[in-house]
Order: sequence, then structure tokens, then C-alpha cells
Amino acid sequence: MSSVLTTALLETVTIRTVTIPSCQMHQGFYRKPVKLRWTCPRCGQPRGKPVPTRSYDGSRCLIVDGWVNPCGHVDYYDDVRREAQGNGLN
Ligand SMILES: [Zn+2]
Repeated sequence: MSSVLTTALLETVTIRTVTIPSCQMHQGFYRKPVKLRWTCPRCGQPRGKPVPTRSYDGSRCLIVDGWVNPCGHVDYYDDVRREAQGNGLN
């Protein structure tokens, strides 16, 4: 039982570095690495596995990291940028 709890605790503090568009109109060029606590900000469950993903800013495409959270909550890059600014890791 205690080892299960320990594992759960370790998972909640997992920190990952992912690459995201540095602004909404990235022009196919502007991206940056950010450190994030790898948990969903809405429910605290672990986020999904990052995979190379195309982001379109309306005209240009940029390869960044994207992920699908198993809990079903969607992380938008706008929210992720705000989180990265405020989480004390970047
Ligand atoms: Zn969630």
C-alpha cells in the first residue's frame, strides 16, 4: 500500500521539458522549450505522452510537442504558456 502511494506522489511531481509555440502567431518559426509539472492543471492527473505535433497559426506550420491527456482535459498552448510563466520552473 505505501509503495503505491509513493509511486502516485512521484508521478504528481514529474517535470517535463516540452517545446511549444512561443506565441500564437508563430509564423512557422517561433517556438521555445518550457518546463512543466506533468499533471493536468484542472484535475491533477498525469498528462499524456508528448509527441511531435504540427501547430498551425493560420498560415504556417510548426513542429512542436503535443499531447492528449488521458483525463480528457485539453491543454491549449495559450494556457500552457501562462502556466510556464507562473510555475516557477522557467
Ligand atoms: Zn484533467
